[in-house]
Amino acid sequence: MKEELQRLRAEAEQALAQISRADELEPFRVEYLGRKGRFTSLMRGLGQAPADQRPELGKLANEIKGRLEQAFDLRQEQLSGAEVEVVKFPDLSLPGRRHPAGADHPVTRVMTEVCAIFVGMGFAVVEGPDVETDFYNFEALNIPPHHPARAMHDTFYVGEGRLLRTHTSPMQIRAMEQARPPLRMIAPGKAYRCDSDITHTPMFHQVEGFLVDRKVTFADLKGVLSAFISRMFDGKTPIRFRPSFFPFTEPSAEVDIGCVICETKGCRVCKQTGWLEILGAGMIDPEVFAKVDYDPEQYSGFAFGLGIERVAMLRYGINDIRLFYENDLRFLRQF
Ligand SMILES: [Zn+2]
Repeated sequence: MKEELQRLRAEAEQALAQISRADELEPFRVEYLGRKGRFTSLMRGLGQAPADQRPELGKLANEIKGRLEQAFDLRQEQLSGAEVEVVKFPDLSLPGRRHPAGADHPVTRVMTEVCAIFVGMGFAVVEGPDVETDFYNFEALNIPPHHPARAMHDTFYVGEGRLLRTHTSPMQIRAMEQARPPLRMIAPGKAYRCDSDITHTPMFHQVEGFLVDRKVTFADLKGVLSAFISRMFDGKTPIRFRPSFFPFTEPSAEVDIGCVICETKGCRVCKQTGWLEILGAGMIDPEVFAKVDYDPEQYSGFAFGLGIERVAMLRYGINDIRLFYENDLRFLRQF
């Protein structure tokens, strides 16, 4: 019995040593160590051995089985390691992987372009928080509580007197609080209003601009905006200023450009008028200056605000603003 055990052990060890592939391991395990394997059936025969030899034989059998299992595990580990190595080795003949080149989103492109034009005219770029207080977003801009203009803003309130800014104009106040004229700044960024249709999205981009100095007139405003529009669009695009109302400017104007689609002949996009509104502007209201302790007798200035999505729509002839935010690659790849 003892000899049989030793013989089986030697045989198993030899067989194990000859295994060179992972898929040969399982047949070995079944043959020697499995529940119906040779080792198990030999151990079953222990019952027939003389009673005084049984304990010794049992101990020996367990020892041999333990060692074999250990050797098997070790072999398994070695072989699986070897296979991983093989898989890891790169096939140098494979073609390389292509990484498609990304590009700026059309809104980002227009934003960059608008900023570059104003920077070229000597404006500095300032940025501020998206979450604003009522004071900066409304009150300091001459929109006191219960002013009807508040109703038009469809504000998102976030609690504790805070709100998502409805325009980037609060930066005007923040900048004027911190510096004295002359000031020439633009404030690009996101603004939020609870509104969604083909010309509105709840989040949109705006560039607010303002200039404050001694003896600034409406003619300066017209000059700066005309220069901007002629660079942004075709230099021949006609411009007109229409009287309008904003609480923070007086007088105020809305600026139209000749329809870029029909060239002022009249079409569906311009509602047959031949004109498209592009931005709002005006001379800064003395009430706003009072909020930041500027003397309106000494200083004057103008401010303007334009929607980047609006400019991008006119620039690229897009008729639904929501396309910018659907992230459809078929749309984005065109830019
Ligand atoms: Zn038109």
